[in-house]
Amino acid sequence: MNPEIAALRETVAGLHRELTRNNLVAWTAGNVSARVPGQDLMVIKPSGVDYDDLTADTMVVCDLDGTVVDGGSPSSDTAAHAYVYRAMPEVGGVVHTHSGYATAWAARGEAIPCWLTAQADEFGGEIPIGPFALIGGDDIGKGIVGTLSGHRSPAVLMRNHGVFTIGRTARAAVKAAVMCEDVARTAHLARALGPPLPIAPADIDALHDRYQNVYGQRPSSG
Ligand SMILES: [Zn+2]
Repeated sequence: MNPEIAALRETVAGLHRELTRNNLVAWTAGNVSARVPGQDLMVIKPSGVDYDDLTADTMVVCDLDGTVVDGGSPSSDTAAHAYVYRAMPEVGGVVHTHSGYATAWAARGEAIPCWLTAQADEFGGEIPIGPFALIGGDDIGKGIVGTLSGHRSPAVLMRNHGVFTIGRTARAAVKAAVMCEDVARTAHLARALGPPLPIAPADIDALHDRYQNVYGQRPSSG
């Protein structure tokens, strides 16, 4: 087996444990994928397998049309992941969850305003809403790409559905999914207390620039 794909299978299987560890998923909902660098392939979660049974061997390799190359039945969201990889060459990882607080905002069709410095850091402003789209064809993928292209946010709240995040790596996309839920929860709690205070756009810009370009050891890998 190609050693790069074997390593990505391990990585993607391991990242699924972050979804459960961070309480982002119920039952078998949610999925992580990673692009195979330099090849028109991706590694993605199998469909309907219990999180406890996800191993490197159960991960599915698909081409960027969503056709299985190696493995069993892939996630039912495979078409959306494939669409994103085809349309956004800079994206190396995609994550989908129905995490509770973020999906509550999606149910209202309401973008999360930037009321927190941590949100400015990671998302560079509001976390946007994507269109309502039915699963199956390219509609979800189109909604994700249409919303996130040219947007600073690596997360989109697909209306009445849930969260899709992108990253240069699958790990970065998982981090964005964890941070999106954390921000959505705190923003909800803040608003329950009364009107939250806005952050000046110039301060959001400064926070985002510092976090993305200065903070940490390897900010691009999260
Ligand atoms: Zn979903």
